[in-house]
Parts: sequence; structure tokens; C-alpha cells
Amino acid sequence: MLDPVNILLVTVLSSIMSLAILGSLRPAGIPGVGRWIGAYLMASVAILLAGMQRLGLPILTVFASNTLLALAVVRMLEGCREFFGLKPRVPLAYAGTVALATGIVWWYWVTPSLGARVAVVSMFHAAVYAWIGWLALRCRPPARPVYSYRFVTLAAWLGAFAHALRGAMYGSGIVKQYGLLDFTPLNVAWLALGILVLPALSIGLVLLAHDRMAERLERLANQDELTGALTRRAFLAQANASLDAAREQGLRVTFAIVDIDHFKSINDRYGHATGDRVLAQFCRVVKSGVRVEDVFGRLGGEEFALLFIGMTRDEAVRRLDELRVLALAVRRSADAQARESGQEAHDGLTFSAGVDEAQLQDSLATLMARADAALYVAKSRGRDRVVAS
Ligand code: GH3
Ligand code: MG
Ligand code: MG
Repeated sequence: MLDPVNILLVTVLSSIMSLAILGSLRPAGIPGVGRWIGAYLMASVAILLAGMQRLGLPILTVFASNTLLALAVVRMLEGCREFFGLKPRVPLAYAGTVALATGIVWWYWVTPSLGARVAVVSMFHAAVYAWIGWLALRCRPPARPVYSYRFVTLAAWLGAFAHALRGAMYGSGIVKQYGLLDFTPLNVAWLALGILVLPALSIGLVLLAHDRMAERLERLANQDELTGALTRRAFLAQANASLDAAREQGLRVTFAIVDIDHFKSINDRYGHATGDRVLAQFCRVVKSGVRVEDVFGRLGGEEFALLFIGMTRDEAVRRLDELRVLALAVRRSADAQARESGQEAHDGLTFSAGVDEAQLQDSLATLMARADAALYVAKSRGRDRVVAS
């Protein structure tokens, strides 16, 4: 069982299983998965060829298998770069592959040296695996849980370490061996460690792809597609959490409900599509005018909510008045669109807001109710104003 050929065959089987799992993720259209599938296809063929060394044909079992395996890990690296939104192609890695192929030809046919061959191949794999581990460490989106990213880093760096050690030992001549598939304990251990990195990494890559799918679902559930604001459910959850956290830190909190004035008339005059664009632009303006710690959500239709953290009622009123001025940009843009399509410009985009500051006994619901009552007053006083209750 511990015959190196068996280890190679088990790795081929596990690579084929990795292919099946990665293949199931393909329809999700996650960047990088296509390249990872290509990598495991190449690796399966390469390792199968390497396992046939005792049959002779070194051009296939030594040269082609090593070059193909090198291309496979480069493909995996490219898939990781694509996954993390970087330019996938890495000319340096291809230059390394050409150097590796040249080294194999040189040390197999010109001046045969198993040690030098193993050293160059192992060092190449060590470098690429180290690179993959570093990418997973550095490129994790900040809000994502670390588990899958650390898993990839650990698997890749363990592989890099095993390959580097193997390369160093063969390269320095500490280990002497006549054939790559010799049945010696050290050789079995190296092969197992170096090659098991492939199935371990495939688990890590699948975890990464799942994390990306989870991120998409969370975004769909939490972020309003049209405006990019939080959905009502996500807003309430985050606002509650932020309110609790602010109270613990002794910060003052102010809540505002914002409702666009006469929005129905924009839809009626220019159509729903223009209404949608105006909503999206309006939200970009609001987002540019609030800080990261503030919570901004779409309660429904053209009604939005803002939770200002560390702000008094008067400060929030001033901020909202500034936003009313900023919203002029939306008015100008909507006007320009109207003129472009040959329509008369509309009366402009204004909003009304109701504001109140959280008291000690307040829940989010009681705070919202007071802000809503203030909004009602703002509307009844003629709109285009901020009213604090
Ligand atoms: P008020 O000043 O009293 O707030 O008047 P209003 O017209 O803004 O308010 P009303 O509640 O009468 O109408 C809201 C309109 O917003 C009706 C609805 O068609 C429109 N609306 C709601 N959601 C969307 C959306 O996602 N896209 C577009 N284009 N319109 C929307
Ligand atoms: Mg309205
Ligand atoms: Mg409304």
C-alpha cells in the first residue's frame, strides 16, 4: 500500500473527486473555479503519467508529467488570483515553468542528476504554493469569516514547506536515491506530504467558493438591489445592534425617517425607470453624506431610515439639511435626463424628514414611532423640511 505508485494513484483518484466537487460549483459562475477545474484536470493526468515511470518512456513520465504538474499549480494560482479579483495571468510563473522544463531536460538527458531535478521541481512547487497561501492570507474581504481563507493558507504553506524541505535535502545531496519511485520511508513521506497538498487545497478552494456564494446570498438578503441601502430587515437588525453598542459606550444616537416628496409625480411624468434612477442617485447622495458608523436603510418605496451614531438631535438636523442641499445634484441630474428625452424638467427633488434622539427608555420601535410622527408634521407643513419632535 505504501508503494509510491499507490500513493500517486490514490492522489489521482482524489483529484478526480476534487474535479467532481469543483465541477458542481461551475454553474454558480464564481471567478476562478473554471481555472481550478483546469488545474485539477492537468494534475490528474500529470500524476497518472508520473505513476507510470516504471514502464519507461521518460519523455512522458518524467518530462511531460512534471511540466504538466507545474502548469497545473500555475493554473491553480491563476484561479486564486481571478477569485480575488486580480489579473489572473502571471508571466513570472510561466517563466518558472519554462526554467523547470529546461532543468528537467538538462538533468535527465544531458547531465543526469536526480537530486538536481527533484530540487528544481520541489522549489518551483514550494514557491507557487507559498504564493497561493499568501494570496489567501492577504486578499480576504475584511468582513468575511477567516476560516476558509486560513485553511487555504495553512494547506498551501504546509505544501510549500514540505516541497522546500524536500528540494533542499535532495539539492544538497543529504538524500541519495536512484529512482524517484524508490520504496524508501523518506521518499514515501515526502511524496505523501508533497502530493497530499492537492486534495487538501481542493477542500480549501471549495470552502472559498462556498464563502463567496454565502457572501452573495447575504448581500441579496441584506442589501437593497436598486439603491444599495440596507433592506428593512437588515436595517432593523443593524440599527438595534448599533443602538445597544452606542449605549454601552455612552454615545448619543439620533434616528431619522426620510421620505422623498411627491415621488409619485416623478414616476407619473417620466416613467418608472427614471424613478428608479432617481432613487438610486438619491441614495448615492445620502451615502456620500453619512459616516461609516451611521446605519442607512430603505424602509420601503421612497422612504428611508438613518441612525446617526454619536450625534445629538441638533447635529442630525444640521446633517440632514446639508443632505437636502446635496440632493440638488439629483435634481439637476434628473432635469438633465428630462431635457435629453425632450421632456419638460420636473419641479425638483426634495425630501422631508422626521428626527428624534434616543432617550434611555427608548426601544428602536418607540424611537421610530416618534420620528415617523415628526415626518408627518414635516409633510403637513408643506414638505421640503426637517422636523425634530
Ligand atoms: P409624499 O410627498 O406625500 O411622500 O408623496 P409621494 O408621491 O412621494 O408619496 P406616495 O406614497 O403617494 O407615493 C410613493 C410612490 O413611490 C408610489 C410608488 O409608485 C413609488 N415607488 C415606490 N417604490 C418605488 C420604486 O422602487 N421605484 C419607483 N420608480 N417608484 C417607486
Ligand atoms: Mg414620498
Ligand atoms: Mg412614502
